[in-house]
Amino acid sequence: MASGSIDERKIEEIVSRVLERLAPGGAGTPAPGKATTPLGEPGKSKANIPRGTNGVYADADAAAKAARRAYEQNEKTPIGIRAKMVAAMRKAVLDNLDALSRYAVEETGLGRYEDKLAKNRLVAEKTPGVEILRPIAYTGDDGLMLVERAPYGVMLAITPTTNPTETILCNAIGMIAAGNAVVFNVHPSAAQVCNWCVHILNEAIQAVGGPRDVLVSVEKPTVESANTLMKHPLVRIVVVTGGPVVVKAAMNSGKKSISAGPGNPPAVVDETANLAKAADAIVRGASLDNNIVCIAEKEVIAVDAIATKLIEELKRQPVLWLDGRQVKELEKVVLEGDHVNKDWVGKDAGLIAKAIGISGHGHDLKLVMCEVDEQHPFVQHELLMPVIPLFRARDAADAIAAGVRVEHGFHHTATMHSTNIDNMAAMARVCNCSIFVKNDASYAGLGLGGEGYTSFTIASPTGEGLTTALHFTRERRCTLKEAFRFV
Ligand code: NAD
Repeated sequence: MASGSIDERKIEEIVSRVLERLAPGGAGTPAPGKATTPLGEPGKSKANIPRGTNGVYADADAAAKAARRAYEQNEKTPIGIRAKMVAAMRKAVLDNLDALSRYAVEETGLGRYEDKLAKNRLVAEKTPGVEILRPIAYTGDDGLMLVERAPYGVMLAITPTTNPTETILCNAIGMIAAGNAVVFNVHPSAAQVCNWCVHILNEAIQAVGGPRDVLVSVEKPTVESANTLMKHPLVRIVVVTGGPVVVKAAMNSGKKSISAGPGNPPAVVDETANLAKAADAIVRGASLDNNIVCIAEKEVIAVDAIATKLIEELKRQPVLWLDGRQVKELEKVVLEGDHVNKDWVGKDAGLIAKAIGISGHGHDLKLVMCEVDEQHPFVQHELLMPVIPLFRARDAADAIAAGVRVEHGFHHTATMHSTNIDNMAAMARVCNCSIFVKNDASYAGLGLGGEGYTSFTIASPTGEGLTTALHFTRERRCTLKEAFRFV
């Protein structure tokens, strides 16, 4: 339905906005640039985020039904309008970059505002839209065969707390470009900012003549609402972006799933690497959004011959290097038995340093680093915080083998710093990852300072890699005998 017509949901939305403005202290959107809480501190109160209403449903079943109605509209929507819908979504995010990034940090308590700006911008600018859905034609003596990409219908997207609005926008662009409608069941810790993001995307879509409710979300998402939607008869396909538990749930849903799971990306540095450049790239990559990004370097493996020199280079970066005693202190803070203490996920390195009694470091400190051995829990666990261990390997072959071991077969992301083409080719092949980056920060593999398109749903377990609109379509062929070959 085109914008402009007032229906019940529109009236409800207007009432809700007015009530928000009237609420004590509720001025709606805080002025851009004014954080309501210190960034990233554990246990701070939620942000004053505007309530998303456009496409936001209280109930999972009602959301799925609305999405089904919208799909029937979107499937018939001309590709030209879908292209406008995608362009409008990109613009809506770029216009609200500051607020989306601040709210995400404030609500989740994770990450770095300035990095969320970069991530949201990247998704808005480099996620492929309708242009990636090219038909293919085969002609010959027997005539013509045409392959086109058709939508699935209603897609369920379960999204993480670590890239909350980035994943919403990335999935929305790809799925809508392909003609689907989407039900989002977002992470409960990011529900306010995600619902507001769905709201502004819907407003943008409707303003260019796109259908209502092509994007819907559950207002108070839970694991139960996720399970209801995974089993819902109107949901055709399940796309999850998250850790191992939700990947397993999607694969057991009885529906086709596209599953983007965890990683533990190694950064291997061999004896031929430019060590200053490697140190700079590792620190930039591993500190992105306080290391909560799945592709971010989680451990460094240095060939023994250059390990000490690499450590010297890393110490020249905004890094705090811990001694053995401090490592023991840090274990007590960020680990709980054999698990990661989630309170420290995505927190600033300066706060982590303070927790072990090292004060004087602020937001400028990028990483806390230390030397350990391969079996150390800092290496083995996906910590998702700016704590990066380094361990030594005998030679390049040994380092590559260690990289494969600590990646745990996720086949997600790996990086290498080297000038030896044989070593790089060997690691590229054996790591068998969706993303392999040579001589830069891991995020170059997302297209951030690297070539190519981006995606924030990197489906390694189900094999699609960096998902785009292409993966959100069914392939259909049409054959015409004899006619249409004109050469
Ligand atoms: P998470 O697994 O805790 O949550 C992800 C989503 O799954 C949330 O919406 C959550 O509510 C839902 N969920 C969790 N358990 C569920 C269950 N049993 N049934 C149904 N839904 C369930 O992950 P997170 O902390 O939000 O994100 C971090 C994790 O996600 C890391 O492991 C990271 O590597 C991974 N990740 C992967 C990618 C990728 O593209 N491969 C991208 C971002 C994050």
